[in-house]
Amino acid sequence: MSASSISVAIIGAGPAGFYAADALIRKNVECEIDIIDYLPTPYGLIRAGVAPDHQTTKKISRSFEKTALNEKCRFFGNIKVGKDISVSKLNEFYDVIILAVGANSDRPLGIPGEDKKGIIGSATFVSWYNAHPDFVDLKPDLDTKNVVIVGNGNVAIDVARVLVKTRKEMVSSDLPDYASEAIENSKISDVFMIGRRGPVEAKFTNVELREMGELENAVSLVDLKIIPEKIEGNWSDRDIRLKEKNLETLRQFTKNTNKSAPKRVHFEFWSKPTKILGNSSVEGIQMEKTVLKDGKVIGTGEFYEIECGLIIPAIGYRSLPIEALPFNYEEDVVLNNNGRVSDGIYAVGWIKRGPSGVISTNRPDGVLVADHIIEDFSKGGLKKGRSSFEDYLKEQNITFINFDNWKKIENAEVSAATPPTPRKKLYRIDKMLEVGMG
Ligand code: NAP
Repeated sequence: MSASSISVAIIGAGPAGFYAADALIRKNVECEIDIIDYLPTPYGLIRAGVAPDHQTTKKISRSFEKTALNEKCRFFGNIKVGKDISVSKLNEFYDVIILAVGANSDRPLGIPGEDKKGIIGSATFVSWYNAHPDFVDLKPDLDTKNVVIVGNGNVAIDVARVLVKTRKEMVSSDLPDYASEAIENSKISDVFMIGRRGPVEAKFTNVELREMGELENAVSLVDLKIIPEKIEGNWSDRDIRLKEKNLETLRQFTKNTNKSAPKRVHFEFWSKPTKILGNSSVEGIQMEKTVLKDGKVIGTGEFYEIECGLIIPAIGYRSLPIEALPFNYEEDVVLNNNGRVSDGIYAVGWIKRGPSGVISTNRPDGVLVADHIIEDFSKGGLKKGRSSFEDYLKEQNITFINFDNWKKIENAEVSAATPPTPRKKLYRIDKMLEVGMG
């Protein structure tokens, strides 16, 4: 390593981590970058978050692969920062640490009865149907006619769609067989997608909403009375255009009837959950009608109940604190000043700014942090040398996966699938290590 080269550890091989590596490379920063991930597989939410039937979105991983193959980069998979090695220990090996760990946990609803069996947050449920090794044994009980999804974002739509699509509709997806069978054999006939605000305020985007009108076996239903004729409020022209599209799509859904298909997705608005009903397991949910006052959601005192055996809150993800690093508990992000956390430690993506935006929203975070690094290291300075990290892992007998190992895993996954199915994901860590390192 040259004396002026900066050694960089990026913790998290998801989009935010790869965009940060890409920015450093594009800016010709003299550096050596190690991208470290908890799993033996790279790409974070591209693999474990993006819906299995949204394969076009997943193609961005090809561009991340180019970054990984750049001579400045190395991949270290299967390293659990916080367990195998602490951030402070990593700090001994690198000049720079970039936190790109995302937001992988569920936010609680904060209402009575939330400890019952049958409430599964969207972060957990999505990880299950995306074959994340930590969640493949979840075995959600789908022996229920009604499912309630709380929230009106794109994750809520993803979950609803995956639950009602047929096996045939999922043939070009990488939905694992165990999830496909569980969904196909389930009793689910009615999915309720419930927003605490109205159709104008819903966060889902139009492409995703329109997909709910193109399902083979399921129909989307909405009450015409709930759709305003005009968009009120302080929105930009762009927002109004996008919201008009959603309203138009919802108006199309109002033409469907209960009998149009064997399964139904009910779009309901202006209702917030107030209590989970049942004994040890979920038997239903109590909702309260809402209105907006000064932009805030207010309960009207009018309650109703929906019988259901499964509730999936899709109300946003949250990050957890990382060791002793300062944390903003209000916003669930690491305390940072525009990406700077402390000397030599930076943050990008959802751990920096919270869980919102699409994949490319992470790109500017990487550019910003690359600029900070250039500025902070413009005078040269302490260089520790990353090679010692690999030695340390070997000394400690910590098994890690490099990018060549990952490509073997990927090739095995692709070879196991019959087109148009893109891959059959491996999801047991020991099997991944056997295939990758064999
Ligand atoms: P999101 O877009 O922030 O939506 C969260 C939803 O949960 C909102 O409707 C929110 O309502 C509601 N909510 C929050 N707290 C609640 C509570 N206590 N009770 C009831 N409802 C509550 O989050 P997301 O769906 O998890 O998506 C995260 C990001 O990933 C978004 O930027 C999304 O667009 C992106 N994403 C994109 C795609 C895609 O492009 N296909 C797919 C998946 C995710 P309020 O509006 O009232 O807060």
